[in-house]
Formats: sequence, C-alpha cells, structure tokens
Amino acid sequence: MSDDQYKARMQRKKAHIDTRIEAANIDRGIIVLLTGNGKGKSSSALGMVCRALGYSMKVAIAKFLKGEQESGEDVFLARQPNVQTVFMKTGFTWDTQDKAYDTKMAVETWEKAQSYLADESIDLVVLDELTYMLNYKYLDQQQILTALKNRPVNQHVVITGRAASEGLIELADTVSEIKDIKHAFSANIKAQKGIDL
Ligand code: ATP
Ligand code: MG
Repeated sequence: MSDDQYKARMQRKKAHIDTRIEAANIDRGIIVLLTGNGKGKSSSALGMVCRALGYSMKVAIAKFLKGEQESGEDVFLARQPNVQTVFMKTGFTWDTQDKAYDTKMAVETWEKAQSYLADESIDLVVLDELTYMLNYKYLDQQQILTALKNRPVNQHVVITGRAASEGLIELADTVSEIKDIKHAFSANIKAQKGIDL
C-alpha cells in the first residue's frame, strides 16, 4: 500500500468513526451483563467499580452466592467510603443443600439490592452472580426485571453470572459472553490470591 493509499484509508476510517461518535448522543444509565463459562465476569465488574470510583461516583454491590472464602476485593472495597455492599450470607448451594434457607438468604439480599436500584444517589449497582438466583428460582425474574426497568434513569448496573436468562439478555444494553478456552484450575493449580480471589 502506498503512503497516499494508506492516508486515504485512514481518512475514510476516521470519517466513519466520527459519524458513529456523533450518532452516539444519548446519555443515560445502562445495564451491562457479563455471562459465559470463562473466567473474568466478576473481576470485570470490579474493574468498572474502579473506574466509577475514579470519578468519585457512588457504588453499591450485592454479591449473591458468596463463597466461604473472603476475596481480595472485599477487603479493598470495605476501605472505600463511596462503596456499600451486601453479601448473601450463604455459600454455594451445593454446600448448604437447603433450598428453603438459600431462598430466604437470596430474598434478603435481593431486598437490599432493590433498595440500591431505587436510590438516586447511587451511580453504579453491581449484582454479582445474580443469574443463578433466577436459574435456581430463588428469586422471581419478573420482579427483578421490573426493579431494573424502574431504576433511576442515570444509574448503571452490572450483572454477572453464567447462563444468563433470555429476560436479562433482552433487557441489558451491553451483553458479553466470556468463553472458557482454558482455566488453570483444570491443570490442578489452586485458586490464586490476586487473580482468582
Ligand atoms: P472472576 O471472579 O475471576 O472474574 P468469574 O466471575 O468469571 O471469575 P465465577 O463463575 O464467578 O467466574 O467463578 C469465580 C471463581 O471461579 C474464580 O476463582 C475463577 O477463577 C474461577 N473460575 C471461573 N471460571 C472458571 C472455569 N472455567 N474453570 C475453573 N474455574 C473457574
Ligand atoms: Mg463471578
């Protein structure tokens, strides 16, 4: 490609990008849904929390399905004045094996999450591992979709978890599916601090 051809190509590209940027003139809160079997959903949500905190935004995090082990971000977030959190007080369902108890804990956590979704002062709400609550039918999908739709117009929401339902996919503005190509755990490498927890 000659220098002139390269220049013309880049000019066309720039014109195209400028048109796209100009068209994107809507400013409102969005729902980002991170699903799929690969690693990186919750840590990506935390990345957005970090971005929001950089702008002194207010963040609220509801963690459904909290494991026994505390993760590094829990310690870090506890120190952040602009972050509030609610953790579901149960481990994985295969540990408790008690559906009535799990449902009660899910509903309690959801009630707190719902209060975040009704709070105009909160700029970003993270609903970590929410998808399982719908898939196991601990929570009512319609109630969740309604709360998401009725949230403050500028509030952002990030939802994570495998096997997101059609209802969540339809409502979300941005949906990414993280594909599992390989994971160190399959090679018997145990969960690593700073990476996995
Ligand atoms: P992360 O919190 O690391 O972003 P995630 O939210 O995408 O992971 P989860 O399904 O919530 O994934 O699982 C959390 C934990 O399980 C993490 O320790 C993660 O490294 C591990 N994990 C995630 N995906 C896989 C996988 N495909 N195989 C084995 N372990 C996984
Ligand atoms: Mg996760």
